[in-house]
Amino acid sequence: MMIRQRTIKKEVSASGIGLHSGKKVSMTFKPAPANTGIVYVRSDLSPKVYMKTSAEMVRDTELCTAIISDDGARVATIEHLSAALSATGIDNLYIEVNAPELPVMDGSAQPFIYLLESAGIEILSAPKKFIKVLKKVRVELDDKWAELCPTKAGFKLDLQIDFNHPAMDKSMQHYKLDFNGDRFLSDVSRARTFCFMKDVEFMHAHNLALGGSLDNAVVMDDFHVMNPEGLRYPNEFVKHKMLDAIGDLYMSAQSIVGEFKAYKTGHHLNNMLLRALLADATAYNLITIEDGKQGLEQNRFIEEVHVHDTDAVIA
Ligand SMILES: [Zn+2]
Repeated sequence: MMIRQRTIKKEVSASGIGLHSGKKVSMTFKPAPANTGIVYVRSDLSPKVYMKTSAEMVRDTELCTAIISDDGARVATIEHLSAALSATGIDNLYIEVNAPELPVMDGSAQPFIYLLESAGIEILSAPKKFIKVLKKVRVELDDKWAELCPTKAGFKLDLQIDFNHPAMDKSMQHYKLDFNGDRFLSDVSRARTFCFMKDVEFMHAHNLALGGSLDNAVVMDDFHVMNPEGLRYPNEFVKHKMLDAIGDLYMSAQSIVGEFKAYKTGHHLNNMLLRALLADATAYNLITIEDGKQGLEQNRFIEEVHVHDTDAVIA
């Protein structure tokens, strides 16, 4: 039996604050048939604008990952939902949103996973497509780099960050993950985005990230984590960078079979890497996978859902 494509069983809605605008944003996830892909719908525009995610649709990676249509319609801050879709194996979905950005929720992927699980996961009949890496592809930018290498099976990640900050333990800046839905959910999904107070002040002065707060990011002053609850994981920072990479590499809604290694990577480099891979027809194959170990793990994920408390408002 092939591993098959997925969508959700029923519509689900939520609202939250937009990171950039600071205003309330509503979104609705709707089931989609096989081979639809992940399609964002700007329901506030007339006529509505449909945008299917792909490596090429990512046209802004300044503060987040944003897709922009040819006529300039955008949806920003999609990377954490993208990571949640990757983890739940959902490759077909309509996401209606009434603003140029998704709600930031708590700055992690967990509220999105909660919503997708609340809607229920529907297995479709069409086989799921995987991107199998056939040869090493590498991109570099200054001292940063990211690469994808072939593996026999699965999706492995190895990521290192390098921050010099009193609140960021040097021994907690390297993380490896043998990716599957369970592991992502328990070990990575709750890692929040992070920033420095001096950057927040700069951004606010320039009308950026107006919705950013201690409710949706780990914020550090010159010495400490300012959030009263502290960190969710001792290595939350590197885990969040991994969460971002998982989301950024899922822009074509196809799971990768390969090994991702990166040093100081970010949205821009992650997108460069995915583009570089897909631009080289000899570097990958689109494959289907028989329901072996990997399929069983995916199925187990559905039966054992660990839902954490969330502030998500479910309409
Ligand atoms: Zn992020």
